[in-house]
Amino acid sequence: MSTVRPRVFKKNLLQAPHAGQIIKVDFNKAALTSKTKLLNFVADLTEKVKLEEADIIVSGGRGLAKPENFQLIRDFAAALGAAVGSSRPCVDEGWIPYSHQVGQTGKTVCPKLYIAVGISGAVQHMAGMQTSDCIVAINDDPSAPIFQIATYGIVGDLFKVVPALTQQLKNG
Ligand SMILES: Cc1cc2nc3c(=O)[nH]c(=O)nc-3n(C[C@H](O)[C@H](O)[C@H](O)COP(=O)(O)OP(=O)(O)OC[C@H]3O[C@@H](n4cnc5c(N)ncnc54)[C@H](O)[C@@H]3O)c2cc1C
Repeated sequence: MSTVRPRVFKKNLLQAPHAGQIIKVDFNKAALTSKTKLLNFVADLTEKVKLEEADIIVSGGRGLAKPENFQLIRDFAAALGAAVGSSRPCVDEGWIPYSHQVGQTGKTVCPKLYIAVGISGAVQHMAGMQTSDCIVAINDDPSAPIFQIATYGIVGDLFKVVPALTQQLKNG
């Protein structure tokens, strides 16, 4: 038996007819009794958005330079009806809660549209979003690895590009 994290693979279409054989095997049930005991459930109160279920995600990275600048991402996401994601350094710096982190040690997402803003495209980040249907990267470094997997790339200063896109969306 093997398991994978949600959204690591796209769902396959059901190929009917499907015939399987159930083989019942006797086993020692006592040997499989769990030694784990649930003591308590503590809800993550910072979790406001289910990133894994969002169709559109706008993620911000270290290119934002300081925590206040995450507002640019929030405004852009609000105009698009998108969820807000993040790379790990922004979480480590305390700019945004862990529940927004995308990547190997964060969430694996597969939205229809993933917009990476000021994110370089480290393997650990890409492991969490590279199966997205459409990836847009906004970065001022044309050699940033994120452009290798981006469907569309915008080479430019995020502090100019993002407000312009947000304004355009607001204008309808
Ligand atoms: C075991 C392990 C697990 C990890 N897990 C994760 C994980 O789950 N998720 C994750 O994201 N990372 C993870 N990392 C960290 C990862 O290796 C990278 O360090 C991280 O993804 C880099 O984040 P970043 O792209 O935001 O920052 P950077 O790599 O610093 O990139 C910032 C980018 O912003 C661009 N930029 C700067 N200024 C501007 C501007 N004004 N306009 C436009 N672009 C600009 C730069 O050109 C640069 O490409 C992990 C690392 C390890 C070792």
